[in-house]
Amino acid sequence: MSALTIKTLDGKTAKVPAEDIDALRAALRGSLSQPGDPDYDAARSLWNAMVDRRPALILRAAGAADVQRAVNFARDHGLLLAVRGGGHNIAGNAVCDGGLMLDLSPMKSVRVDPANRRARVEPGASLGDLDKETQAHGLALPTGINSTTGVAGLTLGGGFGWLTRKYGMTIDNLLSADVVTADGKFLRAAKDENPELFWALRGGGGNFGVVTSFEFALHPVGPEVLSGLIVHPLDRAPDLLKAYREIARKAPDELTCWVVMRKAPPLPFLPEAWHGREVLVFALCYCGDMAKGEKAVAELRALGDPIADVVGPHPFVGWQAAFDPLLEPGARNYWKSHDFEGLSDDAIAVLLKAIGKLPGPECEVFIAHVGGEMSRVAADATAYPQRSSHFIMNVHTRWREAAQDKACIGWARALFDAAAPYATGSVYVNFMPDDEADRVREGVYGPNYARLARAKAKYDSGNLFRMNQNIAPAS
Ligand SMILES: Cc1cc2nc3c(=O)[nH]c(=O)nc-3n(C[C@H](O)[C@H](O)[C@H](O)COP(=O)(O)OP(=O)(O)OC[C@H]3O[C@@H](n4cnc5c(N)ncnc54)[C@H](O)[C@@H]3O)c2cc1C
Repeated sequence: MSALTIKTLDGKTAKVPAEDIDALRAALRGSLSQPGDPDYDAARSLWNAMVDRRPALILRAAGAADVQRAVNFARDHGLLLAVRGGGHNIAGNAVCDGGLMLDLSPMKSVRVDPANRRARVEPGASLGDLDKETQAHGLALPTGINSTTGVAGLTLGGGFGWLTRKYGMTIDNLLSADVVTADGKFLRAAKDENPELFWALRGGGGNFGVVTSFEFALHPVGPEVLSGLIVHPLDRAPDLLKAYREIARKAPDELTCWVVMRKAPPLPFLPEAWHGREVLVFALCYCGDMAKGEKAVAELRALGDPIADVVGPHPFVGWQAAFDPLLEPGARNYWKSHDFEGLSDDAIAVLLKAIGKLPGPECEVFIAHVGGEMSRVAADATAYPQRSSHFIMNVHTRWREAAQDKACIGWARALFDAAAPYATGSVYVNFMPDDEADRVREGVYGPNYARLARAKAKYDSGNLFRMNQNIAPAS
């Protein structure tokens, strides 16, 4: 290989000598690739097709030692560094233009210890990889609702899904993490070892180092859970949402019911006449005893006159992947998100007005139902502080052609602005696009920001890990 021009942390470029790159390559278990190499394009492609960046060099790590080599190489040469886990983050920080990309996706191992209900997970594993291993033992970790999402980025931001109301967020089940910090050291972070780093990792994103292994506590779940969709015409939404907010407020922790509003996709259980028309969908999961679940979901199922009700016992692994076909990589995506403590009549009216003007057949609004065990953790117990929200809205705009960018992004921003008076002002870091740096301090971390900035100064004073929703090191 000849010398390479690579982007540096100060936004300029440096010529990295060929012998340095050759020495790096020789030391790796994994591989290096450059533009034109066969695996280059696959490694730099992310879930969000809006992101099309070309790193000068991609290091595909095979283990923690490769991660140390990548971090040392980037730091010693002052290179811009991006870290990729599952490649799902909407902001696209897993890839950088002209810099060094550290791709962790080859590190996919998941090892379950069924007797102690624990799992060891490498940072390239997806939620589906994890579920398939844990469910072989009747166990599960609360994560998210799309099985191709990466465990790493989801965990570092917080992580919530169908099991969160019962068993807490993903971070609430993190027991320890192995981390390569900016100085190249390999540290274990846990309650009893490097506790400040452990605190910061649980919500602080990729700001503090590269996690090479996560250790999680697991819970007995499944193999089947009562789950499925109830689909209604959108014109019934005002009454349905008012009834829903009461049911959601008093729901047992085992029951989680999200709301999706969009144009109906051509799902096989929906009558053809409904395909492409606006619908409101209750997506629900009861993660406990099936008979108790039937009672718990009865009130929701009795609402209105649904177009379809496909709630029943489903394998947990299958339910975790139920939304995958609608969320495949390759589309253009832009998100805006708010947290809500409740859904007022006025907030509902704002949402429904926007759904009446959906800019495309794949655009949707998700309302995640949280609370329960997640809300019983103190705001300062982990870096993730927003424990009092009961609903998290994601305006998920999704389309195919660049010519639609303006209309779709404009629609998402207009809905976001109109809903702001009813929201808490806080936001989930993992739902933020790359143009929301101004929300990081107050919106994402609020009361925890100053402590995070001090931890950043301790573990990454040079801000090597800056391709993220960045926390500036305290001065
Ligand atoms: C379709 C879809 C559905 C989703 N559903 C949910 C949901 O139900 N619940 C939920 O909580 N979230 C959900 N998310 C959001 C998801 O949590 C974030 O997108 C998350 O960042 C994805 O992690 P990743 O590893 O795939 O992403 P990546 O883009 O690879 O990583 C995200 C960022 O994390 C950092 N990072 C990644 N790996 C490491 C590591 N090992 N060490 C240090 N830093 C690292 C990097 O800064 C990187 O830029 C969803 C996302 C998508 C696209």
